[in-house]
Amino acid sequence: LLGAQQGAAAIAGYGSVPSAVAQKMVFDAVSDPRSRATLRRLYATPASGALVALESRSRLFPKGLADFIALRDQRCRTPYCDAPVRHRDHARPHARGGATSAVNGQGLCEACNYAKESLGWQVNTAIDENGTHTAEFTTPTGTHYHSAAPPMPGTPKMPMTEAEIYLNGELLQVIAA
Ligand SMILES: [Zn+2]
Repeated sequence: LLGAQQGAAAIAGYGSVPSAVAQKMVFDAVSDPRSRATLRRLYATPASGALVALESRSRLFPKGLADFIALRDQRCRTPYCDAPVRHRDHARPHARGGATSAVNGQGLCEACNYAKESLGWQVNTAIDENGTHTAEFTTPTGTHYHSAAPPMPGTPKMPMTEAEIYLNGELLQVIAA
């Protein structure tokens, strides 16, 4: 948020709103299917820097960010796995400086999350030039596997306006807080 202080939050285009209202907006954003489409849409918009800023100081993924990662990834990100997402994993481990962020976060199934840690796999995540979240898995023997988040269902042809991008970015930062 621009100026989150004293129980109020400044949201572009809305001015100052009580933080309870801002939280309600965020809650609605992650629970309403239409707003989920907005999250997908934001994610699919490479012009927006908001996704990169989607980061929490917490070691654990807060619910909004966890929901976002599950919506984005849909299935376990280990190449060829395709099991339902059960864990939100730090691609670069938190203990080694990995951020609790949309970029460093990935959805994994339980088995793959434990396998990744016990087998010493390395995963490097990034956002490519099309706005797609990518993950490069490297096994201890040096073999590379590439994983990309699936295309967003119903991705619109129309780009978002700058105001939409900005407002959504502000809301997503609240989600990640
Ligand atoms: Zn898996």
